[in-house]
Amino acid sequence: MRHVENFTDVNEKIVARIGEDDFGDSEEDVAEYFTSHVIEDMRGLNLKRAEVYPRVSEHVPEIVDLVETLVERGYAYESNGSVYFDVTAFEDYGKLSNQRLDEIESQGVEDERSEKRHPADFALWKAGAVDPDDIAEHRHADLPAIDDACGQTWESPWGEGRPGWHVECSAMSMTHLDETIDIHVGGRDLVFPHHENEIAQSEAATGQQFARYWLHVGLLQTAGDKMSSSLGNFLTVSDALEEYGVDVVRTFYCSTGYRSEQTFGEDEMREAEERWDRLERAYEAAVDACDSTDAYAKVEDDEFREALAETRESFRAAMNDDFNVREAMAALLELATASNRHVDDNDAYDYWALRETVEAFEELGGDVFGLSFGREAGEEGTVTLAEDLVDLVLEIREAEREAGNYERADDLRDDLAALGVEVHDGDDGPTFRFE
Ligand SMILES: [Zn+2]
Repeated sequence: MRHVENFTDVNEKIVARIGEDDFGDSEEDVAEYFTSHVIEDMRGLNLKRAEVYPRVSEHVPEIVDLVETLVERGYAYESNGSVYFDVTAFEDYGKLSNQRLDEIESQGVEDERSEKRHPADFALWKAGAVDPDDIAEHRHADLPAIDDACGQTWESPWGEGRPGWHVECSAMSMTHLDETIDIHVGGRDLVFPHHENEIAQSEAATGQQFARYWLHVGLLQTAGDKMSSSLGNFLTVSDALEEYGVDVVRTFYCSTGYRSEQTFGEDEMREAEERWDRLERAYEAAVDACDSTDAYAKVEDDEFREALAETRESFRAAMNDDFNVREAMAALLELATASNRHVDDNDAYDYWALRETVEAFEELGGDVFGLSFGREAGEEGTVTLAEDLVDLVLEIREAEREAGNYERADDLRDDLAALGVEVHDGDDGPTFRFE
């Protein structure tokens, strides 16, 4: 599998935040601030890293190419230095969100109306820089107003300008994956217009299906309200991780299917805490029982073995059913119950079944659910990567030494020390530890 996560770093809403808090004084800086925080949060959540994290600002030539193709094929038109997608030219427009064209009133900002042929046409390329009037509503009242046009711009066949929001995803997707991708993921709020527009511009340009499956994620709510900064009812990922720990947060996410809206609240988190506690304790009890001498007796607990087989089967069936993590989690909890019962009720253990149980927790709960059975919480993402990177630097240092570049080798050692990595040169080569 090749996994790509793209970042929007060119956008009116980013420009609107210039100068706010410590976000930065340019569109690039504000975008970088949020991008790096998102990546950090994803690592904190123990999410698998993508192979590539492309950004819009690095793909403007590909975006311009795609817009040119759409103009050539008659799906887009230039108007006043901007380029719009002609929704009436794409027969399937509305197929993802199940709407007919006459049901769609309009999209885009007010001042585009006079430039467009159909109110539902959307911008592929916007002339000039960001107009301060367009971002006024997104700009915090305490901040100084932006007087002049601002944000990044690029040269194009239609004059200086910047990409519209939707087109970037199609261009980046085709650059890093293919014309057709297997799975496209995103929040439910992006179905229309964003994903609808991605389909239209991609399929109009290539004549191929854009995405085989769309996985739309339900939004997080707090006590019936959408979690949002304007309502002040939100908790950041890093706050949640600090307060509950990654395993409880992940257990919480595994209590509802991804398509459903999920409520975040004290009760829900307490429930997640209890569940994780049950799982972790059952796992540890099984590990301890395996290590104890009582495990060498040749006992066969058929009921326990049956429960184990059932867990694997139910877990697999649930995950194959559109990632029904709720059912899969229930299967793991049942295994915890069966394993606890076996350990509590017997003086001699079924070693094979206990061993298999430990493996099931580590494989299904650990590898699939990302819970930290048998390792430190948060270990997998950040720490493993950091260790791999330090190993890589140490290999380079060895190569420098072998080539006689001792000064360079010492510099690398000092650079690592400055980052909090202490290197020790032993007889078997260098070892290191994080300070
Ligand atoms: Zn997108």
